[in-house]
Amino acid sequence: MLSDVMEDYLKGIYILQERAEPPISTSQIADYLDVTPPTVTSMVEKLDDRGLVEREKYKGVELTDEGVTVALEVLRHHRLLEAYLTEHLDYDWSEVHEEADVLEHHISEEFERRVAEALDDPTVDPHGDPIPNADLSPPDDAEHTRLSEHEPGTTVEISRVSDREEEELRYLKDANITPGTVVRIVDVAPFGMVTVAVSDGGRQSLPEEIADSIRVKRVETDAVSAEEVPEA
Ligand SMILES: [Zn+2]
Repeated sequence: MLSDVMEDYLKGIYILQERAEPPISTSQIADYLDVTPPTVTSMVEKLDDRGLVEREKYKGVELTDEGVTVALEVLRHHRLLEAYLTEHLDYDWSEVHEEADVLEHHISEEFERRVAEALDDPTVDPHGDPIPNADLSPPDDAEHTRLSEHEPGTTVEISRVSDREEEELRYLKDANITPGTVVRIVDVAPFGMVTVAVSDGGRQSLPEEIADSIRVKRVETDAVSAEEVPEA
């Protein structure tokens, strides 16, 4: 049996490996999990002993195939739970991450199967994060770019937002910026503030940090009238 903390490490390293090529450094893991580097070092040793990560001296770690499988199982639980809580228990999308972080370690395979069935086997969670299949093959995560990378005049569809910042999620929902929404980039200010025109006709200015964390897909502008972008 793995502890909740071990599972959290494997999930965290998996997410970091999605963002950057492994090996993943101790300080990257410490930052992500909000713990100290020495704590990471000792946990990584334990994970290495169990064959879940491979360590490269002075460089960092990479998940083994077994480590990836555990991470995908935990992520499947997490994302299914987030979807279930929003769709069936009336949670707001800003509230579900914390609940799922706890519950993900404790649900049975049968419970997981029934949640998936109740939701008709969803492929993404409320934040746009892909839900791994029941067979735990890595999800097909289409290439996304960051909202902050695009020039004014570009039309993009929101595909993923960070699930970790409650306040940011409440703000984005109020601004009608959720996965599936099409927005047009109106302006990018010198310090990275990105202003977008949203489907309800309103404009929203997003600080660079938020624009960086939102992942989007480019939309061909002739497919969508930039003035009248459809509802999600
Ligand atoms: Zn989450």
